[in-house]
Amino acid sequence: MTTPMTSAKAMPAKAQPPIPAREEDRLAALQRFELLDTPAEPAFDQITRLAAKLLKVPVALISLVDRDRQWFKSRVGLPVRETPREHAFCAHALDSDTLLVVGDARQDERFAGNPLVTGDPNIRFYAGAPLRTADGLTLGTICVIDDQPRPALTPEEEEALRDLSAMVMAHIEARRAVGYLHPVTSLSNRFRFLADADALSDDPAAVPGTAPGVAPGVAVVIDAAASQQYAELTRVLGQVCADAFETDCARRIAACLPGHTRLYHVSPARFACILPVGEDLVATLDRIAAAIRSPFQYQGVPIATSTGIGFVRRSDIPAGSVELLRAATSAAHQSLEEQKPWCAYDEEQDRAAHRAFLLLRSLTEAMAGSDQLHVAYQPKVDLRTDRCIGAEALLRWTHPELGPISPAEFVPLAERTALVRPLTEWVIGAVLKQVSHWHRRGIALPVSINISMLDLGSGDFADRVEALLDRHGVRADWIDFEVTESALMTDRAEVDRQLLQLRGLGIAVEIDDFGTGQSALSYLKDIPATAVKIDQRFIRSIAAERSDQIMVRSTIDLAHDLGYLVIAEGVETAEAYDWLRLHGCDFGQGYLISRPLAPRAFEDWLAAGAFRPTALQA
Ligand code: C2E
Ligand code: MG
Ligand code: MG
Repeated sequence: MTTPMTSAKAMPAKAQPPIPAREEDRLAALQRFELLDTPAEPAFDQITRLAAKLLKVPVALISLVDRDRQWFKSRVGLPVRETPREHAFCAHALDSDTLLVVGDARQDERFAGNPLVTGDPNIRFYAGAPLRTADGLTLGTICVIDDQPRPALTPEEEEALRDLSAMVMAHIEARRAVGYLHPVTSLSNRFRFLADADALSDDPAAVPGTAPGVAPGVAVVIDAAASQQYAELTRVLGQVCADAFETDCARRIAACLPGHTRLYHVSPARFACILPVGEDLVATLDRIAAAIRSPFQYQGVPIATSTGIGFVRRSDIPAGSVELLRAATSAAHQSLEEQKPWCAYDEEQDRAAHRAFLLLRSLTEAMAGSDQLHVAYQPKVDLRTDRCIGAEALLRWTHPELGPISPAEFVPLAERTALVRPLTEWVIGAVLKQVSHWHRRGIALPVSINISMLDLGSGDFADRVEALLDRHGVRADWIDFEVTESALMTDRAEVDRQLLQLRGLGIAVEIDDFGTGQSALSYLKDIPATAVKIDQRFIRSIAAERSDQIMVRSTIDLAHDLGYLVIAEGVETAEAYDWLRLHGCDFGQGYLISRPLAPRAFEDWLAAGAFRPTALQA
């Protein structure tokens, strides 16, 4: 049944639309559907275009009636995005499930004084079909508008408008069903974030809460998932607790956001929003950081969690919304790592993280293959006799695309992951093969292998070494290990146990990079090592630097007093070589003597005879 058209009469200037009976329920439903202030969606636009075509009108709208306004989810032929509710024809269609048809608005007392009638867009004809939810609440209408009066709709036209309204509702329901909402918090989810952020580049006004003329936007990620505690929470107290934690986080964050700003729940315990670029960005971030700092309560137990907050400007990431979210998440991770309340996206750091990830991924492949990893051998000489007394094995990696990668870059990366153990095992395997080959050819020199602190902390390192020696038929005194000082400072009891076991096998142990850690010299006295290797930074300019001389001289004396041999690394000049010899250093290693060499080149170097520093200098 259509509302009868009113006949021409003198009209009052304005008539307020009636408030429907279940207005608060209706507004709550409207919020739940998460339609307001969202970007255009093709499925809705197709329906409005169809409506305009079928009913042969210039304007067709999907209008949602909010508390104080009507907001158009889709619009054909109308430039404005919203109007005040008091001017909305659709607001008159909320309490009935029939069509509202106004043949000539100028002749209808409810609308004759309406500014949309007296001014732009000069509405004369209006027909709207309510958008009703399954429980009978009207969200708004799909309506068609003409600036010419029209007689009533034909039955076919009425049917078309009703069908279109059913299609809109079906899409609204389906949209929720296919998951634009997060099931735990009922916030918009990641798909929605991506869609909204993509719409940003096309239509700045589409950003919820963006004032006209303010450039959008800053993507912010609030990440409580990266914290170890969140994983623990789920593991120890279960998913119900984790869900409660997420809901609490969402509530706290939402309370800090400027009005109208949408909060998205993008992945477990990770939230995002898009803020307009403006002066109070910092204030908002500070507010969020403060709000999530206080412990979360679960069944009366306070649980502390750490949360990272990162942001990135939309304009800095032209690549699209997936990349935008990744960049903001990376910044959030950075804030956790640096223990700062929030961090801006840093392209440099991000590039480093990218490269680190790439390297780690290809390192596994490198270990499996036979042509990327190699070991170079750098001679060590006795400073009194100038004779070679051994070599240090130094890992070399030639990446198929990136070229040579320094172990100073990839070893520390591997040390942050479980990869370090297979990597060390790879090096030990390669060195044992080489050493057994050299012994068969009469080259009987011990080779030093660098190991990481994580190797020593693993509990079975010495056992694995013993098994490898057996497998390769190599005697324990044909190799030794170089351990950095920092390694000795981790789990001392376990490290000592492993070192003692290695010593028990007959393997010598050197303390590498001595002087760079934080330990006192007195620390040396308990370490089950055989030699101390003074770090190259003290050696490189030893002949000129008095402070280096003092440091090195006292280290040599102390180490000798404690029964260690002393080796200097980074010997680059004959002056350094002579100074070290003069001051009782036992061994030296460095570019003056030789650079690290491939096995064949090392053999040639050896064959050339004992090292003569003065001869080299000439
Ligand atoms: P490191 O064990 O202290 O090795 C000495 C480093 O100094 C080597 O760098 C060597 O090439 C370099 N070097 C030697 N003589 C001189 C010199 O006279 N002047 C200068 N400026 N440098 C000199 P490299 O090969 O790049 O290795 C860097 C670090 O990577 C090593 O420091 C070691 O900590 C680590 N590394 C290398 N290979 C392995 C490995 O197989 N396993 C483990 N865990 N770490 C390794
Ligand atoms: Mg070393
Ligand atoms: Mg070193």
